[in-house]
Amino acid sequence: MSTIETTLKSDKQKKANQYIEKIYNATEQRNPHESEFLQAVKEIVDSLAPVLAHHPQYMDSGILERLLEPEKSISFRVPWVDDQGKVQVNRGYRVQFNSALGPYKGGLRFHPSVNESIVKFLGFEQIFKNSLTGQPIGGGKGGSDFDPKDKSDMEVMRFCQSFMTELYKHIGPETDVPAGDVGVNAREIGYMFGQYKKMRGAFEAGVLTGKGLQYGGSLARTEATGYGLVYFVREMLEDKGFDFNGKTVIVSGSGNVSIYAMEKAAEYGAKVVACSDSDGCIYDENGIDLATIKELKETGDDRVSAYTDKHPNAQYLEDCSNIWSIPCDIALPCATQNEIDEETAKTLIDNGVKVVGEGANMPSTTEAVDLFLDSDILFAPAKAANAGGVAVSSLEMSQNSSKLMWTFEDVDEKLKEIMKNIYQNSIQAASDYGTPGNLVSGANIAGFIKVADAMNAQGII
Ligand code: NDP
Repeated sequence: MSTIETTLKSDKQKKANQYIEKIYNATEQRNPHESEFLQAVKEIVDSLAPVLAHHPQYMDSGILERLLEPEKSISFRVPWVDDQGKVQVNRGYRVQFNSALGPYKGGLRFHPSVNESIVKFLGFEQIFKNSLTGQPIGGGKGGSDFDPKDKSDMEVMRFCQSFMTELYKHIGPETDVPAGDVGVNAREIGYMFGQYKKMRGAFEAGVLTGKGLQYGGSLARTEATGYGLVYFVREMLEDKGFDFNGKTVIVSGSGNVSIYAMEKAAEYGAKVVACSDSDGCIYDENGIDLATIKELKETGDDRVSAYTDKHPNAQYLEDCSNIWSIPCDIALPCATQNEIDEETAKTLIDNGVKVVGEGANMPSTTEAVDLFLDSDILFAPAKAANAGGVAVSSLEMSQNSSKLMWTFEDVDEKLKEIMKNIYQNSIQAASDYGTPGNLVSGANIAGFIKVADAMNAQGII
């Protein structure tokens, strides 16, 4: 490269870096108390400098300024009556972040920790994740600070009906298609679908995904996020000449994502030795007996501490963060955001971890991710690695609109193919833009370019 070319290149790079800094500072000023949202924004915009240096048209058309502001965001009162006849009030949210690629798509989370920052971080990440799947879906997210855990079935039903009495005005099969997330499973989706049907006076199956199989759900949706994570990690391992066989794996959480990640990893010959809930974790050096975990979940007595009743040789450790001090080859965080901080990442590395695959959304802090990358750990970021759930949700929408139901094997094969493509597109983008092997920047860049091009094609709206 000539001196002039080198100077031009570094000038473009400098301009891109300055633009990103300006954009990030403005976002921070505009959303001062939204730490999770700002964390998600920082991770993405920091990856984009080489793309912007190469394609200044994205800066000229204000892509980041537009991307960082949701197209529409609502919060609403959700009043409901508990079993004692007392009025309760929760807050509901839906953030419709970006519809450049298709109807807004993203789950609803019911958990006491839900607030605007959490919903926005999840909705923002969803834009890029959905883009990576190659499916025609935009990004959104929603939820409520309602906690279904300590409520009766009738209380959950009354809450879901009240929530949908407002939400139905803003969603539809061609506009916004919510799904489940933490605290929202087939039961909650069923109650919300029933209320939507009643309010609209029409059976529009494609308005929600994660539905029961009797009324438009897709086979393999329940398994999709956990299986998809393992398919993604398998691609990553195969690229380096490794596989799951004989590896020791720990998986945090014991919910939907965690259970099916454990199931598929074990099917591929790994020994899964630990899982957790928010109270503590279990360590079974003989390998976790998944049937026992599933049984605990089904009976509603879902504390993993009860595992030791059936498996007295297993150890129960109070405090869920203890799971990260158990030595393993592969760690799959599948519980919640920021469950791995820098200190935890150090412990994992000191204990010999080789691979980290994120099943939960943003389970590692920025410092933890940097440490994994600097230590040459094979790192699969959530945006790419847990996209299997939403990908199959999109397949559910396709089945609904064609009024067909595909077999489990059909859906699972499509899921495998999608995860493979996500891996390949991410690794390719990382290499094209000067960060070979770095799937964090690769996934961000591959997801971003598609959305940015679609936004530019649709004009300044
Ligand atoms: P679930 O509610 O089914 O399960 C969550 C699990 O994590 C529960 O076992 C819960 O325990 C546990 N948990 C919560 N906080 C902690 C903690 N601090 N330490 C250890 N365990 C904890 O949720 P999902 O499995 O559906 O979702 C898990 C994550 O995956 C979330 O980040 C979600 O956004 C993400 N995700 C989910 C998708 C899906 O299809 N379900 C799709 C893509 C991402 P407890 O019962 O004690 O609360």
